[in-house]
Amino acid sequence: MEFLKTTIEYLKGVGPQRAETLNKEVRIFTFNDLLHYFPFRYVDRSIVHDIVDVPAIDTDVQLKGKITSVKEYGAARKKRLVAVLKDETFSIELIWFKGIKWVKPTLVVGKSYLVFGKANQFGSKWNIAHPDIDLVDAVKLIPGMLQPIYHSGEKLTSKGLNTRGFERIVSNLLTVSKGKISESLTPQLISEFKLTDRDTAFQDIHRPINSSALKNALFRLKFEELFFLQLAINKQKINTQRKSKGYVFSKVGVFFNQFYKTHLPFELTGAQKRVVKEIRKDLGSGLHMNRLLQGDVGSGKTLVAVLNILIAIDNDFQSCLMAPTEILATQHFHTVKELLNGMDINVKLLTGSSKKKERSVIHDELINGSISLLIGTHAVLEDVVKFKNLGLAIIDEQHRFGVAQRSKLWKKNTFPPHILVMTATPIPRTLAMTFYGDLDVSLIDEMPPGRKEIKTIHRFDTNRLKVFQFIEDEIKKGRQVYIVYPLIEESKTLDYKDLMDGYDSISRRFPLPEYRVSIVHGKMKSADKELEMQKFAKGETQIMVATTVIEVGVNVPNASVMIVESAEKFGLSQLHQLRGRVGRGAEQSFCVLMTSYKLSVDARARMETMVRTNDGFEIAEVDLRMRGPGDIMGTQQSGIIDLKLADLAKDNQLIILARDAAQKILKNDPDLTSTENLIIRKELIRQMKLKPNWSRIS
Ligand code: ADP
Ligand code: MG
Repeated sequence: MEFLKTTIEYLKGVGPQRAETLNKEVRIFTFNDLLHYFPFRYVDRSIVHDIVDVPAIDTDVQLKGKITSVKEYGAARKKRLVAVLKDETFSIELIWFKGIKWVKPTLVVGKSYLVFGKANQFGSKWNIAHPDIDLVDAVKLIPGMLQPIYHSGEKLTSKGLNTRGFERIVSNLLTVSKGKISESLTPQLISEFKLTDRDTAFQDIHRPINSSALKNALFRLKFEELFFLQLAINKQKINTQRKSKGYVFSKVGVFFNQFYKTHLPFELTGAQKRVVKEIRKDLGSGLHMNRLLQGDVGSGKTLVAVLNILIAIDNDFQSCLMAPTEILATQHFHTVKELLNGMDINVKLLTGSSKKKERSVIHDELINGSISLLIGTHAVLEDVVKFKNLGLAIIDEQHRFGVAQRSKLWKKNTFPPHILVMTATPIPRTLAMTFYGDLDVSLIDEMPPGRKEIKTIHRFDTNRLKVFQFIEDEIKKGRQVYIVYPLIEESKTLDYKDLMDGYDSISRRFPLPEYRVSIVHGKMKSADKELEMQKFAKGETQIMVATTVIEVGVNVPNASVMIVESAEKFGLSQLHQLRGRVGRGAEQSFCVLMTSYKLSVDARARMETMVRTNDGFEIAEVDLRMRGPGDIMGTQQSGIIDLKLADLAKDNQLIILARDAAQKILKNDPDLTSTENLIIRKELIRQMKLKPNWSRIS
């Protein structure tokens, strides 16, 4: 290990100048850093093209020929170096604009070279700019031999560190480090998962002799990455559980029982019952609850939240329920008020638009303990909001609350309150394991009975008249309709124009007095938004034209048609959320995705996925594959984990293997103190030091 900490400057072929560039450009400081600078792809160098066959498209080709001339043209910054390569079939120009002083001495007229790069055509002339070039004698063309390709850049290239330059210094490194790359996994793990040893894996990932060696090296190194990631996350979880004593909610008392017996409007689904049980167990355990509740839109998470709040109240603790938007918080407030109607429980709503006077009443009542449940937006997190005894915090639609905000909650009481995070965005299992590995996960995987599958249809804009007719027919049956327009930050003004134009044409097509059309968008005052929402909820208006402000949580069971305009502009999970606004009543519901005729491959795939399935998890998996984990979890959170080789979207099986392996080890040896685990303990500590964020995961 010590050897690998050697400063990169001291590697043969590097020196102080290149070292500085490596530091600055790619953050390579030590031997170890360079060892982890992996090729991003490999090319098969055993195939040689005839120059006459060079394809016109942008693909790599390998040529073999003699250099017939080497000339410099232009002066100073415009200088370029041109060499002509000739084989039996044709000739081609090799051009360099940078690093001329490195390259020129290596080109000797009359000698044979192997040349590798992408060819371009200029008029009748062909050339390859900045090719890799080697003397034929210096390269052994072994069938199946793979050449690594490394990321480089202008500054690196100007210092001779193009992909070939990297290949050379890495090769020097591998030569001196052979046998000095120490193992980081136990012999048990290595034999259980048939892993290549670490030393060989590093050799093979940089210099694979064939594709199976490469495959094994990748498997080994990806496993290692994921294993230590899972080890860190799961270790973190153990530590948090130990440190954070939780309030014990031992009683199931009057409020819970009263509600269960006389107020519960329907039988709980099996999944709801199971989840309530899981949560009750946490709350009674004496440990701090940190739980993620996942359930598709409409699966009945609100009721689960309410039952837990009642347990808190039964144990003389206050609760808060937070939602990401005012509309949603307000809606929760009304839903909960109605559910708890007739029970002696003080529930208050606090949002950005609460009046000063209301606020000060709320602040007082929180401090003196008369409020049992505070529902609100981010406003709840403000420092002026102080509780007498906050015991439970529930966060709805969590992906809009960052980690930092979660941690603010912790400070609202002597012990952190129990935390339940509810999300309707199904997070693929492997992502949840990684990003919420510190949380326990409960799943509502069953819909309340009697729900009809929503029918989803994709229509082009050219069919608009038919869609309008369909809307008319549904309204005649007594249903209500959402029409949603995209609102994308970058094209806000354009989007508002679309929304307003749409509103105008819908109002003309569905005129007063027969029809009433509501509109809700982000530029409206929240009181006005609220008023329109209420009108729609009460059935006073039949059509709701809106931006995605209605995306999450809104519940109007009589609304059975969701029209999404410019559906191609929405991501999959957003479309699924929007669709979840309908299908809440007994009627057959529909979702119509309107798009222009021209669609990108991705957009088409999104529409097809939506039409094919209603299953939120299936949609989430497709979404993950299409967008990658960073986009889904937000950059802020993906910064926690920097995986160099493993891919959270693609390496599902491996993530599960690594997680299970890490958990098994921690189960028997939670502090990794046994002699056999010393090796992984050392590596874990080393990695934790490199990634200070890890300790902030929860
Ligand atoms: P979400 O999980 O999307 O937040 P909600 O909690 O808003 O879902 O519930 C969706 C609808 O299903 C609500 O109208 C709610 O009253 C209803 N609901 C919840 N649980 C049940 C149940 N066990 N049986 C029947 N309807 C239920
Ligand atoms: Mg909800």
